[in-house]
Amino acid sequence: MSRRISRREFNRLAAATGALAVIPFGGAGAQLRFINDPFQLGVASGDPAADGFVIWTRLAPEPFDTAHLGQVIYEVSWEVAEDASFSRLARHGVAWARPHLAHSVHVVVHGLEPGREYFYRFRIGRYESATGRALTCPAAGAAVDSLRFSFSSCAHYEQGFFSAYRWMAEDRPDLMLMLGDYIYEDAWGERRVRQFNSLEAVTLQDYRHRYTQYRTDPDLQAAHAACPWLVTWDDHEVDNDYAALTSEHELCGGAPVRESFPARRAAAYQAWFEHMPVRPSRLRAEMGVQIYGATDWGALARFYVLDTRQYRSVQVCPNPPTVQRCDFERGGKILFGGAGGGTHVDPRDPVCRAALNDPARTMLGAEQERWLDEALAGSRAAWNILAQNVMLMTVLEERNGTPSMFTDAWAGYPPARERLFAALAKHRTANPVVLTGDIHSFWINELVNAAGRAMGVELATTSIATTTYDKSDALPLNPGTRFHDGRHNGYVRCELNRERLRTDVVAIDERTDPRSGRRVLASFDTRSGDPRVHRVGG
Ligand code: CA
Repeated sequence: MSRRISRREFNRLAAATGALAVIPFGGAGAQLRFINDPFQLGVASGDPAADGFVIWTRLAPEPFDTAHLGQVIYEVSWEVAEDASFSRLARHGVAWARPHLAHSVHVVVHGLEPGREYFYRFRIGRYESATGRALTCPAAGAAVDSLRFSFSSCAHYEQGFFSAYRWMAEDRPDLMLMLGDYIYEDAWGERRVRQFNSLEAVTLQDYRHRYTQYRTDPDLQAAHAACPWLVTWDDHEVDNDYAALTSEHELCGGAPVRESFPARRAAAYQAWFEHMPVRPSRLRAEMGVQIYGATDWGALARFYVLDTRQYRSVQVCPNPPTVQRCDFERGGKILFGGAGGGTHVDPRDPVCRAALNDPARTMLGAEQERWLDEALAGSRAAWNILAQNVMLMTVLEERNGTPSMFTDAWAGYPPARERLFAALAKHRTANPVVLTGDIHSFWINELVNAAGRAMGVELATTSIATTTYDKSDALPLNPGTRFHDGRHNGYVRCELNRERLRTDVVAIDERTDPRSGRRVLASFDTRSGDPRVHRVGG
């Protein structure tokens, strides 16, 4: 006989014990019945290591009612197996889904064998989650034949369906990297195929709501279930063009202010953690999250996941503040510009140039720069792959007859970029490859430092689903660019071995089509020891 335990009963139980109630997996919990499937938001794995990875899920029988499960801790059981039918169990255990983290579950799985494929799932009561596939990294220093990875950025739920994620899942790579703008905090764009079901995210509830809506998408769920992810973030996980603790918005007027930016950022970071398959050891005091870190794929590759948002200096030469919207419902007028935010500037402008050349300004922050320097110094990997958010190469454009560049990307932080290049040169870093998102268009670049020395290649992916930006007109001003496409959505797929990096630029046909096809627009080879890209095929 099973018994449905209502939220009211849980809450009464919690109140009666004067503390959080724990609903165990065994005993009463085995008969647990939810109003709907509690695993509707899918499963995910991430942060792979040689002995394990993180597996993630979140209990959400009523996905958009985060109070539904009450102040109750649930025990969720998990299994990791060597085969998809779970006949050869490798590890299993019980984890807690806690209310203060939106009943998310992050299990750090240890004790697995290096360099192999596993499958995982969760269970509570009679409910079983979907099965996810994960891989462990090869052992430290191990020779590795090849690695297949792909990377993405910029998924606006309203502006397109997630066919690109579905195709990434179909490829079944060893690893996916998400380079930021996984969610958008706000609605914008002209061709919307579906709508957010909440206003611009400001509070913890708002951000949870946004992630929840994203995770109901079957294509995104498929991408998470396909392989482990390494993730960084960019601005839209919090607010457009923010820099450290400075928003591009300033609230004015004496009315009660709903937004304090540090509180907003903390809320956004917490919701990000709750929904990402990352290690709990990344959490810091005051809801900081350290997302930078290195992951070794045997002797073949070291990935450096960088954070270019949390610690950066404010952008130079902001626009004068202008009131663009009065949002009294939210407690104030919102000013755009003036505090933070990217602008297009003429790099020859003397005031901007002085600010741009200020060596005290930083993109990574002093601590992350020090960490990166040490991580580069210690690398024996054949390839060193920097997974980060915004364009490293300066994209020069012509606007109204004058040269122009965007200050939110590395172009707005030239001394910080030269310090990065100097670190690569000092440590004779083998085969640097920079992975980039944010720019809503594909770019394949050969990087040079200020002295014109070749520094590596930059592979920039377009958006999963947003309006795209065609910069073909600017190509004559950017001699380092070997390929650009600003008309397609999609992702970039790579296959790496000791001798060669093969890069496929993968475009979907149409983001407004939920079953869009795809094709490879162009492929490139980079050979070990030669920091250039060579187009192959067509
Ligand atoms: Ca961005």
